Amino acid sequence: MPDSSPPVIGIDLGTTRSVVAHVDQNGIPYVIPNREGDPTTPSVVLFENGTIVVGKEALKAKSALPDQVASFAKREMGSKVFSQIVDGQSYPPELIQSCILGRLRKDAERKLGQTVQKAVITVPAHFNEPKRRATIDAAQLAGLEVLAIINEPTAAAIAFGVQRHATMLGPQTVLVYDLGGGTFDISLVRVDGSNIDVLASDGNAMLGGIDWDKCLIQWLDDQFATTCGFRPSETPVGMSMLSTEAQELKHTLSIRDSSRVRIAFNGQVMQSQITREDFEELTAHLLDRTRFTIRQLMTDSQITWSGIDQIILVGGSSRMPQVSAMLARDSGIDPNLTVSADEAIAHGAAVYAQTVYKKSKKTKTDDDFTINDVTSHNLCVLGVENSTGLKRNHVMIKRNSPIPAKQVAQFETATDNQASVVVNVVEGGDSRGRNGTTIGRCVLRNLPPNLPAGTPVDVSFRYDPFGLVHVKAKLPATGQAAEIKISRTHGQNAEELDSLRDIHLALGLDDE
Ligand code: ADP
Ligand code: MG
Repeated sequence: MPDSSPPVIGIDLGTTRSVVAHVDQNGIPYVIPNREGDPTTPSVVLFENGTIVVGKEALKAKSALPDQVASFAKREMGSKVFSQIVDGQSYPPELIQSCILGRLRKDAERKLGQTVQKAVITVPAHFNEPKRRATIDAAQLAGLEVLAIINEPTAAAIAFGVQRHATMLGPQTVLVYDLGGGTFDISLVRVDGSNIDVLASDGNAMLGGIDWDKCLIQWLDDQFATTCGFRPSETPVGMSMLSTEAQELKHTLSIRDSSRVRIAFNGQVMQSQITREDFEELTAHLLDRTRFTIRQLMTDSQITWSGIDQIILVGGSSRMPQVSAMLARDSGIDPNLTVSADEAIAHGAAVYAQTVYKKSKKTKTDDDFTINDVTSHNLCVLGVENSTGLKRNHVMIKRNSPIPAKQVAQFETATDNQASVVVNVVEGGDSRGRNGTTIGRCVLRNLPPNLPAGTPVDVSFRYDPFGLVHVKAKLPATGQAAEIKISRTHGQNAEELDSLRDIHLALGLDDE
């Protein structure tokens, strides 16, 4: 019977490229090609005369128009403004992401022949709360209703589960290694039929293929300087050329043992040769960082390699042969290559989008996926120790707690007739709060008059299934709820979002 329900999509909004998928009438996920016919769209935006161009053409324009092209905005989600001035404007990263999402949505609509409004969007597992919130804001700017935000390795585990389902194999403990263009994620997942239980996850928001590129850029620049006496990296155009050359060289070294190098710039030519072994040496410290994160995850979750059945590789950078070699050496397990490194995340997101949609329509079936994920950071309250006057970060919800997660903490008023209590909420950080991300200041206002000092106030912290933080407060003595306002340190407030919506609408895609 033809499916008349409106299409829902899964979006893998990557740092370097994005993928959109949809589930067909037989429940099989497939990637929706963009309007150029490509399965992936570079996450790059060109701003030109008030219109925007997203994808391959924007990427091509980067070397000629470096000041008009925005890329890698995902790495800066949660920041107030994007670090690069684009087309003379200082845009927030949400706006750049919303342009990409708008393009993906339009291309999916064109292919499906229907309006698309609902989507599941994936984020790195260790994305902190402000980055998750900013992703939702970007989607809303692009006119999308976010059915759910799910973690990228979890989505890959769903794609793996869809395959496993077909083969009827028993429960599997899977390590998902996701090394993309700008982020690294690792998750330990129990896949049992259509139940996906994430046991633990970890990662690094600032580690990805681009860091491997940077090592090669440096090498090319040094080689060029030795032969030709100047550094191409000193000009934006030279830098952009080096970056393209480095990426191509890296890709070549994934399939060949060595490569010749020829760089012509400003009338000078450099010729050289590099082996895969040289490249692996140049970048060994980066691979070691991913290895260190895996070890930490295994220690934290008290699991050894013998407890892991499968390793699945996702993200383009996992194609570098040193990745599977390192994993096979350490674990004794050959990584499972049946899951597509490029498509798995979008496939999983599409399957989950379908599940959430069916649930909302009460047409859920037994083989629909359920996800039990975990928090990726400690949620803490930053206070000041009375005895020492030093900052103290109290953990309220431990990382790797199953979500949704909730915890109630009791605070006390310090003085008689205190009208308000301030709670600083921080994600991550050490015992003094260093390196944590401030979520915001929660101010409990309008406490009833004449409360004696030491009156308890209960503050409850909750992570919702999207990984967003909610805070509520009440006076346990009376059961009275206290008014609470969070002043957020990151992202955009309601007024800022309104003006971004106007900018988004005014910009318009190139084919509108
Ligand atoms: P993201 O999800 O962060 O957008 P992807 O999963 O698309 O990233 O991976 C993009 C990264 O993968 C880029 O750094 C790209 O250079 C790298 N990559 C893609 N294919 C290969 C390959 N064959 N060998 C090495 N790196 C690759
Ligand atoms: Mg990715």
